[in-house]
Amino acid sequence: MSPRYAEEFAGDSHVGLVRTDNEDAFLVAPPLFAVADGLGGHEAGEIASSIAIDTVLDDAPRAADAKALGRAVRHANAAVIEAAERGRGRSGMGTTLTAAMVDGTRIAVAHVGDSRAYLLHLGTLEQLTQDHSMVADLVRQGQITAEEGRHHPNRSVITRALGSDPNMLVDTFEAEAAAGDRLLLATDGLTGFVPDDEIAQVLGSARTAQDAVDMLIDRALAAGGPDNVTTVVVDIGGRPGREPRQPGAPRWTARVLWVLAAIAIVAVAAWAANSYARSQAYLIAEDGVVVVYEGVPGDLAGLSLSWRSEESTVAVNSLDAITANRLADGIRVDGLDAARDLLDGYRAQVATETPPASAP
Ligand code: MG
Repeated sequence: MSPRYAEEFAGDSHVGLVRTDNEDAFLVAPPLFAVADGLGGHEAGEIASSIAIDTVLDDAPRAADAKALGRAVRHANAAVIEAAERGRGRSGMGTTLTAAMVDGTRIAVAHVGDSRAYLLHLGTLEQLTQDHSMVADLVRQGQITAEEGRHHPNRSVITRALGSDPNMLVDTFEAEAAAGDRLLLATDGLTGFVPDDEIAQVLGSARTAQDAVDMLIDRALAAGGPDNVTTVVVDIGGRPGREPRQPGAPRWTARVLWVLAAIAIVAVAAWAANSYARSQAYLIAEDGVVVVYEGVPGDLAGLSLSWRSEESTVAVNSLDAITANRLADGIRVDGLDAARDLLDGYRAQVATETPPASAP
């Protein structure tokens, strides 16, 4: 392997402000870097994403060879499928995987799902990967705009992932970067909530790869942080050239400003989490009947983000077993109207299955 590899790199992951589990995983093992976004819930997503990352690390090539990296991703797919068959995790678990191998200014990428690789190339942000998602297909077909895609109700539906199809296709390609470029790998917890121009601005202004990683995660949290958020940043050919820092305000002023900035970030995050929760709703089983809540189930740092909205007379045990099972944990929907529509559906289901009591 060439001894010339990226000198500066960083990665981090945050559970976000709404979820209790982090199903994302990432890898910073130069010259190999990767992010994965697990699917499946109940810890299965975590198992899928970590198996994928471990396998690609074991099987990665020794050079920035996209085809060989693609083979490692296919091995990772087989490993996730096999784990589920053996009862590790559960069937139906899956994960995205976006892996990059950096050799000097050469980047090899292998990619499946809706996590992304971007390159800030000569100051301009380029998305290197194409999402394998329903919304990306609609945008490519010209049926909706990219901006509409960001708010589309099916924006989290992906069309390709590791863990289901033994013949899964992997996108592979190689790109030539320039010294001073920045490579970003990120899960949709970042890219679904922080617009590209903001990502470009952070990548262009952060002093170090670590600063860029921290700032991007902060932006996702400030946008409500509803999903797990993971970023890996690699400075191609080392850190981009920066002007030496100007002598400025005395240090204590800087510290006060940092504290104020931190307070502001927490306040904005709390406000954003609250307004995100207000846009959500869920149905849950309580005392044997279906109850509608505004907000999201669970709590955040001890704070509840749900408000009881309406109780129904729909008995959970009068519904089909799958629905009853899902109601035990709560079924999340986009807003109260959607929750009421779903409840009306249950009422209809009960009405058709239960013959009316005979008239007196
Ligand atoms: Mg995600």
